[in-house]
Amino acid sequence: MLRVVELALGYGATPVLEAASLTVADGRFVSLVGPSGSGKSTLLRAVMGLQPASAGRIETNFAKREIGILFQDDALLPWRRAAENVALGLRFHGAERRAALAAAEEWLARLGLDGLGQRYPRELSGGQRKRVALAQVLALKPRLLLMDEPFAALDAIVRARITQDLVDLVASEGISVLLVTHDLEEALSLSDTVYLLSHGPRARVTAEYPVPIPRPRDVIAARTHPAFAPLLEKLWHDLSREVEGAPPADRSVAA
Ligand code: ADP
Ligand code: MG
Repeated sequence: MLRVVELALGYGATPVLEAASLTVADGRFVSLVGPSGSGKSTLLRAVMGLQPASAGRIETNFAKREIGILFQDDALLPWRRAAENVALGLRFHGAERRAALAAAEEWLARLGLDGLGQRYPRELSGGQRKRVALAQVLALKPRLLLMDEPFAALDAIVRARITQDLVDLVASEGISVLLVTHDLEEALSLSDTVYLLSHGPRARVTAEYPVPIPRPRDVIAARTHPAFAPLLEKLWHDLSREVEGAPPADRSVAA
């Protein structure tokens, strides 16, 4: 379980978040959306322990090494083959080389990259590289996965396929997820709960949207579920109001 309670923090004297609260219950897939520059990445960095809070608290029963992180830019080493990249984290945590490589190949296969373990990152497509990065994170058996706009650079079809594999894998592994995204449809189609962060400075979580679409979920079919369109409209409306309500200085940051 992860609970962010009334979190406030900023950079130096510049406030970013004020009293931002959200909860990721065990095994839940939770998304955080909000205007550009509102503090979504900052909140995630605070959860990772990289950004000290000035008020409020972060409560979790996950140990540091049980938390996996995936960013938009993957962290693959270009001079290492895909399998070696996946194995690196395991070796760092003490696995012997051959066992780490075997586990890496297994995770690559689970992510649909059977037989591509010997390729270098430059020999893979953007979607395949993202899958390697995901294999790298999942191989470490995280119990909580934090993601910051991880799929933003991928085209729609590739993105739909990789997010489908993601929801299936986190469900089968029992992983809790906190995803930051600016894509409202993605947030709704993947999540159990979506939180909206208000515009900054001093952003707060202003709304919580439970998504009553059953699981297991087909991420494309979820978009035609009767609950989807009304939720999307409400989220869109609420987010637009946040963006329009932002002070001019903020708008220039967002542009
Ligand atoms: P989001 O991820 O929602 O787009 P961020 O968390 O990246 O927003 O940024 C929130 C605010 O904090 C923005 O106004 C941004 O300019 C500012 N900010 C982000 N990182 C830093 C930093 N390292 N130093 C100073 N200000 C920052
Ligand atoms: Mg961000």
